[in-house]
Amino acid sequence: MTIAFAVHGGAGHLSRAGLSAARRQEIHEGLAEATAAGRDVLAAGGSALDAVVAAVVLLEECTHFNAGRGAVLNADGHAEHDASVMRGHDRAAGAVGAVVGVRNPIRLAQSILLQTEHVLMVGEGASRLADELGLERADPSWFIVPRRHRQWQRTQAISLDHDTTGTVGAVARDRRGRLAAATSTGGMTNKLPGRVGDSACIGAGTWADGHCAVSATGHGERFIEANVAARIANLIELSGLSLEAACARVVHQELRGDGGVIAVAADGVPSLPFNSGGMLRGILAEDGQIYTGIWDELVPTPAPT
Ligand code: ASP
Repeated sequence: MTIAFAVHGGAGHLSRAGLSAARRQEIHEGLAEATAAGRDVLAAGGSALDAVVAAVVLLEECTHFNAGRGAVLNADGHAEHDASVMRGHDRAAGAVGAVVGVRNPIRLAQSILLQTEHVLMVGEGASRLADELGLERADPSWFIVPRRHRQWQRTQAISLDHDTTGTVGAVARDRRGRLAAATSTGGMTNKLPGRVGDSACIGAGTWADGHCAVSATGHGERFIEANVAARIANLIELSGLSLEAACARVVHQELRGDGGVIAVAADGVPSLPFNSGGMLRGILAEDGQIYTGIWDELVPTPAPT
């Protein structure tokens, strides 16, 4: 069976003038590297779940993106992370909200899926669970990079990461035809401490079942209200829409906020629509080539070695 894989690095009104050629290059490379990581897991016969987590860990580790180290800061000037992961064949899910000091929130979400009776853990309890599970912790100051601190200082309102790179996510179909989706974020700049967005909400920011796998990025409150990711799956299952038609309807007609999704259908066909100026994304094409994009066009991009 054909493997399929895609990643995103956030959606927003990314201005061409605001991104230097060097930074564009680094973004393309980061997306290609994460796409290659997922591809390698799948090509070796690994599971869709392991593939999406491998890619998201890389994106969390890359300070260009709004996840892990380099995440945006809340109104108190701290990084609080949301992350979630879902496996399609049995609809098992794991998620964390408003967690502080866990180096790779997506690993904690995966551990919640694999090792606990729960789906969603938040705040201090989630951090304690990370310790009990032996996951790596980091001092809260480690997550704050100078670019985010400057962004936080000049931003008065709650805002999407409009002019730079954002939330991360991945969707996959493995050789057994099983699907998975993962999403990880620092949320929105200046969010209230304790605010949890769609990236922690199974159904809104992340969904996988037998029909499709979806990871979303955009104004989280609007994505929760529209239950975006599960809504796409429901339109396929109950209304007989193709993945492309279901994604287009939700992203371009129903959603009342900026953003987009990456999705892959049960047959491996992808769809990556967005209603904002841009969405950072990477995709493994059928011929094995990796393509990445910021605005409308996708360009072939070798992963850095
Ligand atoms: N959806 C994320 C949130 O609202 C933000 C983003 O995708 O950039 O927390």
